[in-house]
Amino acid sequence: MSKTNNCKIIRQIKGQITSDGDGVKICRLIGGTELSDLDPFLLFDEFISDNPDEYIGGFPEHPHRGFETVTYMLAGKMRHEDNQGNKGILAPGDVQWMTAGKGIIHSEMPEQENGLMWGFQLWVNLPSKSKMTQPHYQDITSDTIPTDDRTDGVSIRVIAGKYNNLTGPIVNITTEPLYLDISLEAGVAASIAIPTTHNRLLYCYSGTIHVGDTIVERGSLAVLSNDATLSMRSEKLLSSAILFAGLPIREPIVRYGPFVMNTHEEIRQAIYDSRTGFI
Ligand code: MN
Repeated sequence: MSKTNNCKIIRQIKGQITSDGDGVKICRLIGGTELSDLDPFLLFDEFISDNPDEYIGGFPEHPHRGFETVTYMLAGKMRHEDNQGNKGILAPGDVQWMTAGKGIIHSEMPEQENGLMWGFQLWVNLPSKSKMTQPHYQDITSDTIPTDDRTDGVSIRVIAGKYNNLTGPIVNITTEPLYLDISLEAGVAASIAIPTTHNRLLYCYSGTIHVGDTIVERGSLAVLSNDATLSMRSEKLLSSAILFAGLPIREPIVRYGPFVMNTHEEIRQAIYDSRTGFI
């Protein structure tokens, strides 16, 4: 009997087309009925549209408490602004890792009236000891994300965690995340080491990715086994995927909309505190 340490695909999720914010069309891959969460990940949405009617409403003022939101833009621009005076623009290739902690009220609005808007939002849980931490941001511009851009047709952007000798700019996150944006030209393969302690998912956002004998089509989120190495390849097309992995927290999850805590009492408190801006 042979034993490999290659990741296998346990299941694939197609997600649900729905809307969030003020009528923004999204595909919800984690956080819906197919996969409510995969510790420490609570939600994963893709938004992709070149029809302004499907994004122009944006995500007006709303609260968050108890977790982190990670926004990664591929195309288009998003403006964010919060109740503590923080503001900025996310441009293509930029990442915002927002630790909402004890609470923030913010808006995320398109900074464009037409053209393609394409990006992802991931929610990462916080352990109970960090849920009431001071809110803070890591705003990362595209040009500061290290990229392994090899001549063999592999391009890997390291947003968080390590790949080969590169380390991503996102730091001090309890769940020790790995977040990679991987592109493979046709006929090209790559091997990626993932800590076996980490739960991990691969989302194919362009082309087709092969993992062993399994095909992951564009728009499919693959849950991977906790083996040490992800061996992936692209056969016919330039293909791209996001790989994210994190240490499970293994605590009770009680969620209500934009609040994710450990108990119902903490959710009641979060709703109450949000009415006064978490002051
Ligand atoms: Mn938000």
